[in-house]
Amino acid sequence: MFQFCVLGSGSSGNSVAFWDSENLFLIDAGFSCKETVRRLGQAGLDVENLDAILISHEHVDHVSGVRVLQKRFGTRALSTEPVHRWLDAKFGMSTEPELVPSIPEHVGNFTVTPFEVCHDASQTVGFTVCKKGSKVSLATDLGHVTPGVRARFMDSDAIIIESNHDVQMLKEGPYPAFLKKRILGRQGHLSNAQSAEMLVSVVGEKTIHIALAHLSQENNKPEIAQEESEIIIRASTGRKPKIVPASQSYIGNIIKIR
Ligand SMILES: [Zn+2]
Ligand SMILES: [Zn+2]
Repeated sequence: MFQFCVLGSGSSGNSVAFWDSENLFLIDAGFSCKETVRRLGQAGLDVENLDAILISHEHVDHVSGVRVLQKRFGTRALSTEPVHRWLDAKFGMSTEPELVPSIPEHVGNFTVTPFEVCHDASQTVGFTVCKKGSKVSLATDLGHVTPGVRARFMDSDAIIIESNHDVQMLKEGPYPAFLKKRILGRQGHLSNAQSAEMLVSVVGEKTIHIALAHLSQENNKPEIAQEESEIIIRASTGRKPKIVPASQSYIGNIIKIR
């Protein structure tokens, strides 16, 4: 058995905690150290027990708490080699370049496997988090879904997937043209429709919970993202997994995976 909790997700910070009775780790630490400690506490977790932070990519909304957590609590921070080099050069931040796409990494009893996704960073990875036949899959920043990425999400007990924007809201919204182009591009962020379409092909019998992540505050609404996924998944698969939009401001439900 293990548990996870989305501590928050969006362009101002992303972090997901995974834990069992022996280990606790984060995927990304995009909130300040103080805020990360506070949100861990809200989930009933103690930062002193934090074993590691696994970093998906170098964008600030995924790493802003890393340095202080390392310094204050001696937490290990693991990234891929390109992200390690980038963080070192730009922020003077030191990570262990341990993560290699498709190579399983062990955190206590967990097997965490990074896999590469398309996004405009030096290298961006999603993760599968597995323990004793159970699996949670996660990708919060990706411009489009490749067959390889889709395969990683198959047979998941729970899924955390980006559902960044409503295309119409983005197109009609206040963002400058270059930013709209970036977000809509193949290296940008997944729309509600792209996310729902991806979910249709990967949601299976085991899938009990889906968290929609990295929702744009300007170009999306939680109820729009949720409804679009629910309608498309039910119509196409007949399945009714619980679908919850992740919040930027509040921690999500604590999800138990058996
Ligand atoms: Zn990013
Ligand atoms: Zn991001």
